[in-house]
Amino acid sequence: MSGLQEQTRHQCISCGINVAGSNAARFDCPECNYRIYRCAKCRKQSNLYQCKQCGFTGP
Ligand SMILES: [Zn+2]
Ligand SMILES: [Zn+2]
Repeated sequence: MSGLQEQTRHQCISCGINVAGSNAARFDCPECNYRIYRCAKCRKQSNLYQCKQCGFTGP
């Protein structure tokens, strides 16, 4: 049962899929240091991301 809560927090910022256990990119928003995850697929496509906290968008 443990671990489920943690997994739900790790969603791709662009497409929203659960990235727990995958090789998703993890970085902090340059503006507010909000923790951002991006799945390998979105990273490959260079999808824009938008920070959920401050609205910052970047490649
Ligand atoms: Zn994604
Ligand atoms: Zn931010």
